Amino acid sequence: MRPMTDEEIIRFFEMAIAGGQIFVYYQPQYNHSTGRIVGAEGLMRWRHPEFGLQYPVNFIPILEKYGLIHRADLFVFEQICRFQSNCPPSVRIPISFNVSRHDLFGHDYVKELEAIRKKYDVPVKYLHAEITESSAIGGIDLFIKAITQFHEAGYLVAMDDFGSGYSSLSVLKDLPVDILKFDLQFLAGEGLGGRGGIILNSAIQMAKWLETQVLAEGVETIEQADFLKSVGCNYVQGYLYAKPMPEEKMRSLLETGSFE
Ligand code: C2E
Ligand code: CA
Ligand code: CA
Ligand code: CA
Repeated sequence: MRPMTDEEIIRFFEMAIAGGQIFVYYQPQYNHSTGRIVGAEGLMRWRHPEFGLQYPVNFIPILEKYGLIHRADLFVFEQICRFQSNCPPSVRIPISFNVSRHDLFGHDYVKELEAIRKKYDVPVKYLHAEITESSAIGGIDLFIKAITQFHEAGYLVAMDDFGSGYSSLSVLKDLPVDILKFDLQFLAGEGLGGRGGIILNSAIQMAKWLETQVLAEGVETIEQADFLKSVGCNYVQGYLYAKPMPEEKMRSLLETGSFE
């Protein structure tokens, strides 16, 4: 069990797609004032027979660098659509998929997603796009165009990792996203009592004035959860509630519907 080298990632990628080694873990998102699951995020995993479970931090940058992420992301999106089409409509929740900025270059990406979605006959309200704030670096026009195309097709768009970059305020002004995801990891070590907490609180209030939904991710402690409740951030995702889990487990969790 070890991370794969760049060469191995490139060499084994096609085989991994074809052989079912690449798949999706699901991490639930909760409304912590009601305890109910309100959504989930699909996260890519790669289980290599020899090298074991591989995490995105080790292989996604390589897939991006060598032009393979587009194929991987379409594959993940198809898995999510398949999950949704097998899910009884009474317990269906929106599932977010991650969009790499490389997906948006040179592809009519939304059109490609639409072809897959229609094949599985999943209503668009059950699929949310997540684009990281840093995608706006070096080309906000592409980002705006993508959001517009997602909106025209009916997808809600979340800005991922909001606050991680240094351009957050201007990004917020120019990009009409529906959901802001704040990652508490960016405050790690500092706690919520200091400047970080004040800034986070203000950003949450600002998002509300802009009528943008807010979701905090990376929630690991009760203290963080209490803070989020006190500032009115009701949507949460993190190890405190549930870790990313295999498809079958997500499905059975949906059938019972609340905290484990
Ligand atoms: P992300 O989109 O910000 O996803 C959240 C990451 O935080 C996930 O890591 C998740 O497992 C982790 N996480 C969730 N709760 C907690 C918590 O309470 N504490 C901590 N420390 N971490 C938590 P993961 O699955 O390793 O993914 C890492 C990144 O890889 C993602 O960050 C995303 O940028 C990228 N990624 C994952 N799946 C895909 C995909 O299908 N396509 C693309 N393009 N990128 C993906
Ligand atoms: Ca994400
Ligand atoms: Ca994130
Ligand atoms: Ca992240």
